[in-house]
Amino acid sequence: MAEENGWRLCSACKKPIEFGAIYWICNVSTCNRKSAALVFCSLPCWEVHLPTARHREAWAEERRAPRRSAAAQAAAKEPAESKRRTVVRSAPPRQPEAGGPQEILIVASRLKEYVHKRSGFNTSDRVLDPLSDIVRRVCDEAIRNAAKEGRKTILDRDIPGH
Ligand SMILES: [Zn+2]
Ligand SMILES: [Zn+2]
Repeated sequence: MAEENGWRLCSACKKPIEFGAIYWICNVSTCNRKSAALVFCSLPCWEVHLPTARHREAWAEERRAPRRSAAAQAAAKEPAESKRRTVVRSAPPRQPEAGGPQEILIVASRLKEYVHKRSGFNTSDRVLDPLSDIVRRVCDEAIRNAAKEGRKTILDRDIPGH
């Protein structure tokens, strides 16, 4: 398909990506399903899909479209992939949404009580977000530590600095 119009059409702007040209893919697996793999002619076009895709973390990977002849020969088999060259990360907009990965992990009442007992200070609800981020980061590291030892249970000793 689309032989006349280059190799494939950009998933965002629908302009043709020429044979042998640089294009971009999204690193996220749901954007690379065989039936509906997304390809982008440029980084701005890749960024276009971010708000709707709602990836937690995403980056674009640079690829090169196959030459016309190579594409014809290798017709069915992984047509796109010559080697990956560079990877460009772009921070997607943060989307704090309830129930999602940005959920608050801190028990507000306990935290406020702790701070108040320690200091008599009050605590803004807005500290719950950054504190939850810290907990997530520590947990991610603990997950890696447990995985290194082939465990699927996080133990106290996996917590960094514990
Ligand atoms: Zn485009
Ligand atoms: Zn994507």
